[in-house]
Amino acid sequence: MKIGLAKEPLANESRVALTPENIIRLSATGATFVVETGAGLAAGFSDQDYRDVGAQINSSARAVYQQADILLRVNLSGAMLNQAAAWLENSPLLIGMMDPFTKPERFTDLAEQGISSIAMELIPRISRAQSMDVLTSMATLAGYKAVLLAANAASRIYPMMMTAAGNLSPARVFIMGAGVAGLQAAATAKRMGAVVKAYDVRPAAREQIISVGAKPVELALEADSTEGQGGYAKQQGEDFLQRQRELMTAVLSEQDIVITTAAIPGARSPVLITAEMVGQMKPGAVIVDLASERGGNCELTQHGEVVVEQGVTIIGPDNIVATVAYHASQMYGNNIENLLHHLLNEQGDCDLDFDDEIIQQAVVTYGGEIINNGLRERLD
Ligand code: NAD
Repeated sequence: MKIGLAKEPLANESRVALTPENIIRLSATGATFVVETGAGLAAGFSDQDYRDVGAQINSSARAVYQQADILLRVNLSGAMLNQAAAWLENSPLLIGMMDPFTKPERFTDLAEQGISSIAMELIPRISRAQSMDVLTSMATLAGYKAVLLAANAASRIYPMMMTAAGNLSPARVFIMGAGVAGLQAAATAKRMGAVVKAYDVRPAAREQIISVGAKPVELALEADSTEGQGGYAKQQGEDFLQRQRELMTAVLSEQDIVITTAAIPGARSPVLITAEMVGQMKPGAVIVDLASERGGNCELTQHGEVVVEQGVTIIGPDNIVATVAYHASQMYGNNIENLLHHLLNEQGDCDLDFDDEIIQQAVVTYGGEIINNGLRERLD
C-alpha cells in the first residue's frame, strides 16, 4: 500500500496531513510513503524529517498523486476537491476534509472518475471514533486561538492586577455557543484570568460550562427542542432567534470580549448579534466570530477581515487552526493515523467494511457512485 502525502496548495493552509511520527507508527502496517517536497515545511516538518522515517520525497506533485493508493490531504473544500481529483489516475482512495455539504454536486465528478473518498468531517461522533474526530480536534485549537486573537486586538488585559500604579479589573469574556470550541475558549480565557460567562442553546451545555470554570448565562427562552441528532443544536426558527437577541443585548453590553462559535451542521450560522446589538456594546470591545466561514454569528462580520464598527472590533478569522499548524498537524495526523489503522487489514490492504458504522458514514464515493446517504438526499 503506497500512501501519498501531498502539499496543500492554498496559501492560507499550512497544515500537513501526516507528521513523521505518524509515518513511523503506520510503517508497521507495511505501508510505504511518498511525500511531496515541502509538504510539511509550513507546519514545522522538513523533507529530511520525512526521509529520516523512511518516506520517499518527490518534487513532482503529479507523481505523488499518480503513485498513491491512498492520497492524504488536509483541505479539500470547494474547488480543491476536483483539482485534486484531476491529478489522481489509479482510482485511489482520497482522504481529507471536504466540507461535504457545501456544493455536494462536486462529488458527482469524483464518483464518475472512480475515485473513492472519505470526508473526515463525516466520521461519526461516537466513542469508538473519537480518536479520528477532526471536528473536535480542530475546534479545540480554534477555541484556544480565538482567545489569543481577541487578546491581541483588545486594549485591555485579561487578568486582574493589583499594582502600585493602581488596580486593573479583569476582562469580561462571553462565549456564545459552548460546544467543543466554545468550551476550550472558556477554559483558556479562564486560565488567563478573565471573568468568563458562556451561553448555549442546548441545556446539556450548562454542566460543561460550569466544569471549565465559567458561569452559564440563562435566558428566559422556550424552544420545543434545542438538541438534534448526535447532540448537535437544532436549527431554531426566526422567532426564537429574535427573542434570544433581545435578551442577549443586555448581556453583551457588559462584555469586553465576545467569542461566537454557534454552528448548525450543513446550514448557515445563526445570526446571534445584529448591527444594532453591536451598537449597544462597550467601545473597545472585541468580537471573534469563529462561525465566520459559514456566514458568521455577527451580522457585521466579514470573513477573513478585521473590521471596526461603532468602536467594536469584529474579527472573522480565516482558517484559524492553520495559524497553529504544528499542533493542528499533530492532531489531524493522529486522527488520520487512527483512521488508517482502522482501514488497513493485517495484510496491509485497505479494507472498506460497509457493515462498520464509521465506514458507512464517512465514505462519500465508492464504486463509481455517491454512496453517502446524507449527501444523496441533498442531491435528489
Ligand atoms: P458546533 O460546532 O456544531 O456548534 C457550536 C455550539 O453552538 C454548539 O454547542 C451548539 O449547541 C451551539 N449553538 C447553535 N446554535 C446556537 C444558538 N442559536 N445560540 C447559542 N448556541 C448555539 O458544535 P460542536 O462543538 O461540534 O459540538 C456539537 C455537539 O457534539 C455537542 O453536544 C458535543 O458535546 C457533541 N460532541 C460529541 C462528541 C463525541 O461523542 N465523540 C465529540 C465532540 C462533540
